[in-house]
Amino acid sequence: MKVNHYMRRVVLILISLMLPQLLHGQGSHIRVSINSAVDTSQQEIASVIKLWEAYLNSNPDTLYDNPYWLTSEKERFKPFDFIAHTWWGVSLYAWLLRCHTTVLSVSKIGESYIIRTMLYNSLPRDSGKVSVVSIIQTGARLENGTYKLCNVLPINTRHWEKEQVGSIKFVFPPDHVFNGTLAERMNQFIDSVAAVWQITVVPIEYYFADDIDRVAKALGFDYWPAEGNIIGPRGFMDSKNRIIYSGGSNEWYPHEFVHLYINPLFPIAHHYFLEGYATLVGGSGGQDLLWHIRRNYEYLKDHPEIDVLTFKGVDMFTPASYFIGGLLCKMAEEKGGLQLIRKLMSYGKEDEDLYRAIQEVFGVGKEDINNFLRKKLTEYATK
Ligand SMILES: [Zn+2]
Repeated sequence: MKVNHYMRRVVLILISLMLPQLLHGQGSHIRVSINSAVDTSQQEIASVIKLWEAYLNSNPDTLYDNPYWLTSEKERFKPFDFIAHTWWGVSLYAWLLRCHTTVLSVSKIGESYIIRTMLYNSLPRDSGKVSVVSIIQTGARLENGTYKLCNVLPINTRHWEKEQVGSIKFVFPPDHVFNGTLAERMNQFIDSVAAVWQITVVPIEYYFADDIDRVAKALGFDYWPAEGNIIGPRGFMDSKNRIIYSGGSNEWYPHEFVHLYINPLFPIAHHYFLEGYATLVGGSGGQDLLWHIRRNYEYLKDHPEIDVLTFKGVDMFTPASYFIGGLLCKMAEEKGGLQLIRKLMSYGKEDEDLYRAIQEVFGVGKEDINNFLRKKLTEYATK
């Protein structure tokens, strides 16, 4: 939603710059070091860490019937390891060979264990400076007498409330008072999006709390790169498993739901149109598209030197991909309905594809885009 796609890109680029060149993956062994305070004289703790190390060395970033993971989760979820694949793009474990990996703690929660692992770097080498990539939680529990790894989300949310409304399972902390009216509104919104696009409504699990960090921690990010920045409602999703996570929000969170339904239809779409359409239909950060258009218009009219198409936004969390992407989708919809939105989504992910889409759908050449967008911003903002 607000931020995350943009913010994630920024953060991941920063992290990759911090990391040394990838060692040659094949044959490299990932060695997990253990914080000296972890009591490995306890046999179960030692065996759980051994299991974790074996998993990290078993190509965990590829999807196959991994012998170290809980069978019931492998059957239900693909990919089954939530924290590896949520938020990080490809896989968190793709970073592993470039990182140090230290187990900070192993705690028993009921019948399960939670392993807390820090992924970090020391750069420049031997400088003593530490860059933490993430601190993650991984679960372990018995299956037929043997410990297997599992997601911590069910463990960490075992006391959270669950409410099913239509196709959506709402999961939230017990201190939240469930708003059935908003939940029903969310459910009907999904039904209407599905009807417009003529797609099937699917079951979705939706985890939300007053603060995104609370949800991220429940998922298993004890520390994650975007933690702590206060920027209003935000979220992210696991589209393959149909799980949405959000914070600073409530039962009504249309933006990310639009992504979950629409993004898979257009795997090659430029992110301006994916973000733009989600903002057009579902708003962003709790405000609708027109609010973002007006806000950015007010700023941009005092800053004629700025190129609108690449503007980073009045705040860093709603860049042009949201409000200009949204404006382009709105104009396309008014001009040619859903058919033209589909067309916009079909050009590809690169900058050149964006220019080509604007040229072919709106008849505006690259050199005229800034003037065109400024004119349209004024038109829509002052309507
Ligand atoms: Zn979004």
